[in-house]
Amino acid sequence: MSELNVILLGPPGAGKGTQAERLQDDFHLLHVSTGNMLRAAVEEGTELGRKAKAYMDRGELVPDDVIIGVITDRLQEEDAQDGFLLDGFPRTRPQAEALEKALDDLGRSLTAALLVDVPDDVVVRRLSGRRVCQKAGHPYHVDTNRPKHDNVCDIDGSRLIQRDDDREETVRKRLEVYNEQTAPLIDFYDERGLLRRVDGTRTPTEVHDHIRATLATLRLEDEI
Ligand code: AMP
Repeated sequence: MSELNVILLGPPGAGKGTQAERLQDDFHLLHVSTGNMLRAAVEEGTELGRKAKAYMDRGELVPDDVIIGVITDRLQEEDAQDGFLLDGFPRTRPQAEALEKALDDLGRSLTAALLVDVPDDVVVRRLSGRRVCQKAGHPYHVDTNRPKHDNVCDIDGSRLIQRDDDREETVRKRLEVYNEQTAPLIDFYDERGLLRRVDGTRTPTEVHDHIRATLATLRLEDEI
């Protein structure tokens, strides 16, 4: 079967993490979330975490040279060979170019860039109510996606917390950064014929159905 190498584009709070969780089960893809990797590195106090923390707390992007090597190395590991779902990377044009080159060098290529489209006001509402589990970052929402037991993750039983960067002021900064530095990648992937748009304001299940159908079609097209 052909490999699906997919990136999820979209503002913070578009639901990329939620969708990635579901899609990795459907298509047996490795889910690589740069945000989760960086938060784990901060927690563990590694060199990467020490370099990244101040930027993350301010809602700014970690410098390209810090993150690019981490991802290009990760995609060469055994468990990424049958396809991957990149969530939160690339976020700048140099990152997108580095990814293109790294895949090219490996004789691989991207299948699609899925844009989960959500307007700014919806992002602010969603993120200020978001809670994530302490252990693996599984996402919940105080209004729309509550866990079965208050403040406890349904999947791994760890405690739910609010991420420092989900406070309203930092959310606005992250949106500004997204609009300036990441949104230009929409044209980058459109020019390459890889962009697929999904309406991210629909329910998580509707968004999931739409993406699943899109990926199934892409896989079929690739096999013909
Ligand atoms: P996320 O969970 O994807 O919203 O990422 C949280 C934070 O991690 C971002 O606000 C950035 O500070 C940092 N980060 C995650 N992915 C990247 C990336 N590809 N490039 C630079 N910084 C990143």
